[in-house]
Amino acid sequence: MRAYAYKVVRGELRFENTEDEEKILRLMERWRKAINISEHRDWHLSALPKSLQTKANEFIEQQRKIMEAKRIRCEPVLHQWMMQLYPENARFTDKDFGHVALTTLTPYETVVAEFCCRRCTLLKEASDSPIREGCKRRHVLETSHPKLVYDESDKKFYLIYVIRKLVSLPTLDELEAALNHGFNIVSVDINLDDLTYAVFHLNNGEEKRLHIGRCRWNVGEWIRVRRIDAFAKKRHGMSASRHWRRLKRRGTGKAAEGANQIMETAKKFNAKAIIYEKLSNRFPKGSKNHNYKIHCWYHGRIVRYLVNKARWEGLAAVPVSAWGTSSRCPRCNAKLPNPKTNSHRDWQTRRCERCRFTDDRDHIACTNIARKFNRKLLKHRLRNILQIT
Ligand SMILES: [Zn+2]
Repeated sequence: MRAYAYKVVRGELRFENTEDEEKILRLMERWRKAINISEHRDWHLSALPKSLQTKANEFIEQQRKIMEAKRIRCEPVLHQWMMQLYPENARFTDKDFGHVALTTLTPYETVVAEFCCRRCTLLKEASDSPIREGCKRRHVLETSHPKLVYDESDKKFYLIYVIRKLVSLPTLDELEAALNHGFNIVSVDINLDDLTYAVFHLNNGEEKRLHIGRCRWNVGEWIRVRRIDAFAKKRHGMSASRHWRRLKRRGTGKAAEGANQIMETAKKFNAKAIIYEKLSNRFPKGSKNHNYKIHCWYHGRIVRYLVNKARWEGLAAVPVSAWGTSSRCPRCNAKLPNPKTNSHRDWQTRRCERCRFTDDRDHIACTNIARKFNRKLLKHRLRNILQIT
C-alpha cells in the first residue's frame, strides 16, 4: 500500500532590527484588517493568493457556523496571525538555509531574516529531491508552501514547512504471507507513568521474545499541578492554565522521546510492524475520572507520534483490541487474580494460579499484544482460504 508520510519543519525567524519585524507585522495586520472589513471582504480576498483565499474563506465560514449554532449575531472576524506564502515569497538566500528573504503581499518590500531551525538537513534533502513531473514514480520528498505565523504568546515569528514523503507500507496480506519465513514486530504497552516495548519474532503462530525495554517518566507532576489547580479554582475562581500548559509541553517531549526510543529499537531489529492497543472504545468519552482522562491524553499523544514516525520509516502500525491484555495469562489464558495487598511490588508482578506462570505485568501485556496480533494474522489467513474455496 502506498501512502504519504508527513513531517513538520518549524524554524524561528530572527530579524536584524526591530524595524523589519514591525514592517512585517504591519503588513500582516493590514491584510488581516482588510479581510475583516465585511463590505470589502470579497474584493480584498480576490487580491490574495489563491491558497490563502480558500483558507480565509474556510475559516470565515467555519466561524459563521459556530456563531449560528450559538445564536450570536455579528460578523465573523479573522483573527489568526497566519499567512501562507508562495515558495517564491520566501526564498533562502544561502545554501545552508541560514537566511530567508520574505516578500510580503506588497511587492518590492523584501525583508531578510535569520532562519533558526533544527531540522535544516531534512529541508535541504527535500528541496534537493529531484522533481520529475509526469513520471509515474513520484519524487521522494516534497515541500509544501511555507506558512508565516506570528505566535502571540512568545512574540516570535515562525516559518513552517510541511514535508511529505511517499512510502510503501506493508498490508495485512503481505504480513500474513511473510509469516511463513518469520519476521520481527515491536509490541507497545502504554501506561500512565511508563512505556514498555518488546521485540517479538513471529513464525507460523509462535512468538519468541528477543528484547524488552522501558521508558519511564515522573507522574508526580500531574498530581502536583492538579492540587495547584484545585487551589486556584477555590481561591481565585480560575484554573491554573499556565501550569497545565507547561505540563502539556513536557508531556509532549516525553511522548516524543518514548516514540523515538521505540523507533530506534524497531530499526535495530529490522521490525516490520508496530503493534499497539486501541483504547478509544475502552474508556467512555464523558468519563469524569481524571486519571482516565490523563491516561487517554497520554496514550493518544504517544500513539499519534508513534504512527507518524512508523509511517515515515515505512513500517505498518497496527492497532489491536485492548481487552484483557494485562489481566490474562499469556500461557494458559486464565484470568490473573488481583493482588491482595496494595504495595507496588505486588501489583507489578503477576502470578497465574492455574499454571504458576509469573512475570512483570507490563511484560505480560506486551506478550498478550503480540499474541493478539499473531492471532489476527492467522484469522486473516483462514478467512482468505475460506473465501478461495
Ligand atoms: Zn496461566
